[in-house]
Amino acid sequence: MNNRIYIFDTTLRDGEQSPGVSLNGDEKLEIARQLARLGVDIIEAGFPIASSGDFNAVSAVAREVRGVAVAGLARTNPADIDRAWEAVKHADQPRIHTFIATSDIHLRHKLRMSRAQVIETAIAGVKRAAAYTSDVEFSAEDASRSELEFLCQVVEAAVGAGATTINIPDTVGYATPDEFAEFIRGIMNGVKGIEKVVLSVHCHNDLGLAVANSLAAVQAGVRQVEGAINGIGERAGNASIEEVAMALHTRRDRYGLETGIVTEEIYRTSKLVSKLSGMSVQANKAVVGKNAFAHESGIHQDGVLKERTTYEIMNPAMVGISHSNLVLGKLSGRHAFRSRLVELGFSLSEDELNKAFVRFKGLADRKKEITDHDIEAIVENEIRRVPVTYELAYLHTSSGTTIVPTATVGLTRGDELLEEAACGNGPVDAICKAVDKITGYHCRLAGWGINAITAGKDALGEVNLRIAENNNEKLYMGRGISTDILEASARAYVNAVNKMIYEKKNGRPAE
Ligand SMILES: [Zn+2]
Repeated sequence: MNNRIYIFDTTLRDGEQSPGVSLNGDEKLEIARQLARLGVDIIEAGFPIASSGDFNAVSAVAREVRGVAVAGLARTNPADIDRAWEAVKHADQPRIHTFIATSDIHLRHKLRMSRAQVIETAIAGVKRAAAYTSDVEFSAEDASRSELEFLCQVVEAAVGAGATTINIPDTVGYATPDEFAEFIRGIMNGVKGIEKVVLSVHCHNDLGLAVANSLAAVQAGVRQVEGAINGIGERAGNASIEEVAMALHTRRDRYGLETGIVTEEIYRTSKLVSKLSGMSVQANKAVVGKNAFAHESGIHQDGVLKERTTYEIMNPAMVGISHSNLVLGKLSGRHAFRSRLVELGFSLSEDELNKAFVRFKGLADRKKEITDHDIEAIVENEIRRVPVTYELAYLHTSSGTTIVPTATVGLTRGDELLEEAACGNGPVDAICKAVDKITGYHCRLAGWGINAITAGKDALGEVNLRIAENNNEKLYMGRGISTDILEASARAYVNAVNKMIYEKKNGRPAE
C-alpha cells in the first residue's frame, strides 16, 4: 500500500467557521500562501456559494497559490457545484468537494429525504462535478453515525459516479479510535472499487479525540487526513494538522508513513493563523503552545541540559521555533534589523520595512532587549493587508481610584488629524468611546484579552479584541501591540474599526 499521507487543510473553510472568526479575502490569501509553503497537499479555501466574499476568496486562492490542489465545498445540488467550479477552475489542480449527509438523524430531521433519494442525489452531484474536473471529493456527512451498510452503498455509488477521494467525516466528534478504525475497515471491505480512490477522514474534537481518531484511521488504511492549523473549526474544532504531522514524523518507526509537510514551517503557520483568526493558542497546546518545549522542574531541566533527549521527543527547531532569544537593541541599525527579518522568514517591501523599523526604534527606546518574538509581533502588526482608514496618532488617558477615567485620542485619516475626548467606566471604555466619536460608528466590545509576548516588566503586551456595531451581530477582530497596554488596546480597536470599514466598502454580505 502507498505510504504517502495527503494532508487536506480546511483552516480556511471549517476553521473559519469557528465562532467569532471571520477572515477577509486578503487574510485568506495570506494564510493560503503560507499553507503552500508548509506543504499541505490540498487547501479547502471556502464554500463558494455561501457568499460573494467566500466565492472571491476561493477564486483568489485558486488563481494565485500554485503547486497545491485547491478545493471548494459544495452541497450536491447543481447550483452549489457550478459555483464551486467557477471558483476553483483556475487552480493548478482544481478540486470540487461535494457532500450529503448519510445518517438517519440527518436524513429524517435535516434533509427530509429517503435513503434512495440520498443515493440518487449523491450520484447526480458527483457526476456533475466530475464533468468539470477529474478531482472530485465526496463526503458522507455524519458518516460515523450512519449505518455501515447504507454508508457503503452511498460510497459505492459515489465512486461509480466518478469520485476520486471519499471522505468519512466524524462530523460531531462522537467516534472513539478503535471503533473508528473498525468502521473504516468495514468501508474498505464493504465497497467495491474503494481501492481505486483515496480514502479520507475528517475528525472533530468534541471529545478531544480528533487526532487520535485520524491516526487510528490512517493505521486502518486511510491516506488523506483533513484538519486545520491549531485545530480550529466548528465547536471544539478539527484535528490539528501540526499534531497529525508531527505524530507521523516523530513516530515514523511505528507508522512508516510520509507526509509532504515541511515541519520547519509549522510554527510560523500557527502564529499566522492565530494572529489573523484572533484565536490564540493555549500555552499547553501540543507542538505549537508556548510551553510545548519549556521544561519547568529542576529534574527535567537538569536532564535536558545533560542530554536533550532525556525529556524531549521533538526539537523546537524541527517545528521552526528559533533558538536565539536576544538579538537587537537600541543601537541596532536598519541593516541588522532587515537581516534579522530575513532570517525569521519575512519578506517585506521597502515601505513595509520602513514602517516596521520606525516601530522597532520606538520599542527599543522603551525596552532594552528586543527578542525575535518582539520582532515578529512588530512586523505582523505593521504589515497590514487591509487598507487603513484611521491610524492612531496619539493617546492620552487618565484613570485611578478616585477619578473618572478619561481618554483623549488623536487619529489621522489621510492628512487630517481628528481629535476627541471621552469618559468611560474604565480607560479602555473611554478610549473606545473617543474613537467612536471620531469615526461616527457606535461599536460595542464583544471581547478583550491580553497576552505578554515576552517575559519581563517591559514586555510587549498584545491585545486581541472583538467589536460589533450596536444592533449588529457581525464581529470584527482587532489586534494591537505596545509596551503600554492602553496604547495596545487603542491600536487593536482602531485595527478592528478599519477592518469593519473595509468589509463594508468591499461588500462581503452577511451570511
Ligand atoms: Zn467539519
